[in-house]
Order: sequence, then C-alpha cells, then structure tokens
Amino acid sequence: MSTARMRAVRMTRWGGPPVLTEVARPIPRADEVLIRVEAAGVCRSDLHVLDARPGALPYRTPFTLGHEVAGRVAERGPGATGPAVGERVVVYGPWGCGLCSRCAAGAENYCDRRADLDAVRTGTGLGLGRDGGMADYLLVPSGRLLVPVGDLPAAQAAPLSDAGLTAYHAVSGIRPTLPVEGGASVAVIGVGGLGHLAVQILRATTSARVLAVDVREEALALADACGAHFGTLLRPDTAEVLRRRADGGVGVDAVLDFVGSRSSLELAVGALRSGGELAVVGSGGGELTVRKPGALPPGVRISLPFWGTRPELEEVVALARKGAVRVETEEFALSSAPEAIDRLRSGRTRGRTVLVPD
Ligand code: NAD
Ligand code: ZN
Ligand code: ZN
Repeated sequence: MSTARMRAVRMTRWGGPPVLTEVARPIPRADEVLIRVEAAGVCRSDLHVLDARPGALPYRTPFTLGHEVAGRVAERGPGATGPAVGERVVVYGPWGCGLCSRCAAGAENYCDRRADLDAVRTGTGLGLGRDGGMADYLLVPSGRLLVPVGDLPAAQAAPLSDAGLTAYHAVSGIRPTLPVEGGASVAVIGVGGLGHLAVQILRATTSARVLAVDVREEALALADACGAHFGTLLRPDTAEVLRRRADGGVGVDAVLDFVGSRSSLELAVGALRSGGELAVVGSGGGELTVRKPGALPPGVRISLPFWGTRPELEEVVALARKGAVRVETEEFALSSAPEAIDRLRSGRTRGRTVLVPD
C-alpha cells in the first residue's frame, strides 16, 4: 500500500522562502490525533522564523509552518484521549513536556523543561520546529492540546489560538494592575493580527480607555471598528499625545506593545505613567536598558508574555462564541500560501491572514 500524500507549506532553509510541497500524510499512533485542517492563520512570527539566521532558533529544518490551526478530528491513535473523531477543535499551540507543574496547570507556554526541549531541538510547538498546520492534515501529539470550538467558523477559530490567546494572556497580565478608581487607560501599539483582538478583549473585559497607535491609517480604522476610544499614527510627539489623552494627563496605566521595535519601546516608555505596566509582546528586535536611576519611569513593571495557557484559550473561545470577539480576516487558499505570506510582509494585511483548503 502506498502512503497517502498531502500538501504542506514548509520552512526548508533559514532565510529562504516558504515552499509549497507534498509530504506523507501522518498516521496517528499511541496518544496522537490527526486533524483535518480547516483554517490556518499566518502570523508575523512566521516571518521572523523564515528570516532567522541559521542557529538563531532551536529548530531543525525542514518543518511545516502554521501555528494557528482549526479543524476537525480525522483519526485518533489507539491511546488518544480528548475530542472524538468528527469534533471541531482549535489546537493549543505551545507544546511543552506535558508533565511538569506548569504543563499540569495548562501553562505549557511556560513549561519548566523548555530549555531541555530546546537542547534536543524538539521545537516550541506546531509550526515552530515541529510540523504545523499550513497543510491538509496536522498531527497533534495528544488530545490534551485540543479545545472544542462547536460551530465557530474555522477561519474565526484558528486565529484565536495565537493572535487571540496571546492578546488575551497579555491583557490578563495587566488587568489586575489597572486602577479601579478614576478611569484607567491602556495603549495598544500595533493594531495588526494580535493588536486588533487586544483592543476587543480590552473592551470586553476591562473598563479602560483604549488608545491605539499604528503606522498605517487602515490599521487605525480597524482599531476604531474594534472599539478603540482613540487612534493615532506614530509621530515624534505621540508619547505626549497619549499622556494627554490618559485620565489626568499623567500617562497611561499600561502599554501592550505588539511591535517590540526600538521606536515602539521608546514610545511605550515615553507614554507610561509612574508605576505603570509594560507588556512587550512583539519580537521587533528593540531593546530596553534596565537601570536605576535610568530612562524607565519609577515603579514600572515589564513583562514578556509568551502565547497563553490552555484555560485562557478556552476563555477566548467562549468570548468569540458569544460574539464579544470577532477576528477580521483576509482568506487565501492554502495553495496561495507563499503569496499570502508575502502580502503580510508588505504590510498590507487588515486583521489576520487565514489559509483555507482549496
Ligand atoms: P501584524 O503584522 O499583523 O501586526 C503588526 C502591526 O504593527 C501592523 O498593523 C503594523 O502596521 C504595526 N506597526 C509596525 N511598526 C509599528 C510601529 N513602530 N509603531 C506602531 N505600529 C507599528 O503582526 P502580528 O501577527 O499581530 O504580530 C505582532 C508581533 O507579535 C510580531 O512581532 C510577532 O512575532 C509577535 N508575536 C508574539 C507572540 C508572543 O507570544 N509573544 C505571539 C504571536 C506574535
Ligand atoms: Zn504567532
Ligand atoms: Zn512542561
């Protein structure tokens, strides 16, 4: 019997373009589950992976891209647990050891054995060193990594597993620090795939004033449609503009930086109130110097949220199912993945690019 084949968009060479090719369709063994992919999101992290220098990331090539995936359970290994064949699911993406206390609590994004896993180059999760979901099928190591989505459309569900989950986790981190009295304000820098969902999640789960910043007018229009109270293009005086817009003119209570470049971090530091909160989500290569006394406002807390927990993925799916979060999508056929990825690179995407079967 010849092995069944399937299409896959592969990372074959560091710095090289994504390659649409054919590979063997995996067969689930033991606890593994095979998913028929119905949608796979394209993330700016895919560009960071494609562009990485050899050795910069602890992954072996080749592997299939795609870390934001929704689909239907197609087949289960004999020991598999969790959703049954035919059930519609999203895939929880940060694959940890599954055994440490963090993983046991559903926080595989902060698996205690990450460094050991990296050392043996087993990858951070699907599409990040391990075969991902820009393909007809995806092999998932365990049913514990699947979250049911019911009748949520696949193109809505897939982006929740990274863009939605990461934004939700970042908002969860700053939410308890926001002042209850006297109107909190939160700046969102970068209103792309993650940022437009952060704006909605802030509106749905806090009473903060949401101030959006981007370098594109279209992104600000999207921020407005998502419920931002104010939007502005990045300009030399933007930090001052944000400070004035915050309650009392003393600076914003929190910044969610979905860019992470030198200019966005400079803006964040300039706009924050003393004792404020900075969550750096974007991997834009910027750096901050921590020194006392130094340029950072006194009392500022900095966090580097990475992806999110499995329970948070369930919460963000629930928000989407009740209509409180809606992903703005641009859909492309799987066979057009290289063009879709190029379009994201050129900065023309509104919301999230999603690949669907063709
Ligand atoms: P995206 O391209 O969809 O969105 C980025 C947005 O930022 C765009 O609207 C762009 O116009 C805007 N922008 C660019 N430079 C800017 C600047 N200097 N100031 C203001 N706005 C600016 O990207 P995305 O998929 O939403 O990802 C955002 C970042 O988050 C990427 O760096 C990605 O790698 C990272 N990311 C991190 C995690 C994590 O767990 N920490 C998870 C997913 C993505
Ligand atoms: Zn991502
Ligand atoms: Zn672990």
